[in-house]
Amino acid sequence: MTSLASSVVNALQSALGRETASLHEPLFQGNEKEYVQDCIESTFVSSVGNYVDRFEQNLADYTGARRVVAVVNGTAALQVALQLAGVESGDEVIVPALSFVATANAVRYVGAIPHFADSHETTLGLDPAALREWLSTIAECTAGGWRNRSSGRRIRAIVPMHIFGHPCEMDGMLAVAHDYGLTLVEDAAESLGSRYQGKHTGTFGLLGTLSFNGNKIITTGGGGAIITDDERLADHAKHLTTTAKQPHQWEYVHDEIGYNFRMPNLNAALGCAQLEQLPEFLISKRRLYTRYCEAFSAHDNLRVMSEPSGCGSNYWLQALILDNSVADERDKILGATNESGLMTRPVWMPLSKLKPYRECPSAPLPVVESLEKRIINVPSGVGLV
Ligand SMILES: *Cc1c(COP(=O)(O)O)cnc(C)c1O
Repeated sequence: MTSLASSVVNALQSALGRETASLHEPLFQGNEKEYVQDCIESTFVSSVGNYVDRFEQNLADYTGARRVVAVVNGTAALQVALQLAGVESGDEVIVPALSFVATANAVRYVGAIPHFADSHETTLGLDPAALREWLSTIAECTAGGWRNRSSGRRIRAIVPMHIFGHPCEMDGMLAVAHDYGLTLVEDAAESLGSRYQGKHTGTFGLLGTLSFNGNKIITTGGGGAIITDDERLADHAKHLTTTAKQPHQWEYVHDEIGYNFRMPNLNAALGCAQLEQLPEFLISKRRLYTRYCEAFSAHDNLRVMSEPSGCGSNYWLQALILDNSVADERDKILGATNESGLMTRPVWMPLSKLKPYRECPSAPLPVVESLEKRIINVPSGVGLV
């Protein structure tokens, strides 16, 4: 009898039609060299230049957001978005326990406290019903807004994250946010190209954020963006991320404490070329997903993560989800796949377990604690199949 671990190796190799593969690598097959070279020849490689404007406009057109502000990375985008959403020092912000650490770090950078919430088994993202239930027991309505009864702190915002590119249940999230007076800021770092009921992720809240890190669906080397329909917030985002300098021909007048978070023109040049290829990348990701479904169709004790109903996912990072009955095989599968040169990874450790976040408030996390043991990310690069 073959072990589950070796049959996973075989299924991955047959889906990919190759022996080895990394988890995710960028693909540069479009106008990248042309635009980057043009940028170098113009000498405008840094904080001024046309490619930043062009990248922002192209992203706005693509996502349907009225405005886009490109910044140095997705974490900085989230930090500034939270500040613009009115999150203040000492506030609590609801974040998924199952996310990349940047989601919680950005909350801390603005002096607020992450308050962790559970996931839904089918979307892997925040579960609005469980969150509503939790808030109904711990939140009290005061003159200053909803507070966590036990900490006394104001609960100010909620940050859903679309895990691996799969949209979480936004209707439910918007309703909870509305009923508890929470400002919704979406961490859409992983979900460029993903839609919920036809609307692009990141455009549901007051502000949303994207990442163009090297492992995301498109890359600028390093980069991120704030997206919003609010012109005033977008102007403020631009101002804050460009050292809050007042326009003047020569004077250096900065009217608040800003940041040097502007995306360099060189990175934006790469981004313009990558964004042109996003429609093809989405097709390639979906083709890989279909291959995996076929290759794993005989495995009745695991599933390939599929887009939630009503959603169009970008399938950024492919995932196998083991049934409970074989959860204890996870490490053997990770061992066998990585040993054969197929790069696989477990999902992130829940943020509530990390040293800097252990003392933070948290809802019960039964689903996250179960998913943690059962998710394996498998090779997902664009152009693999
Ligand atoms: C990648 C990522 C970020 C941060 O993006 P960087 O550009 O790497 O700073 C934030 N949140 C999530 C969920 C991510 O996956």
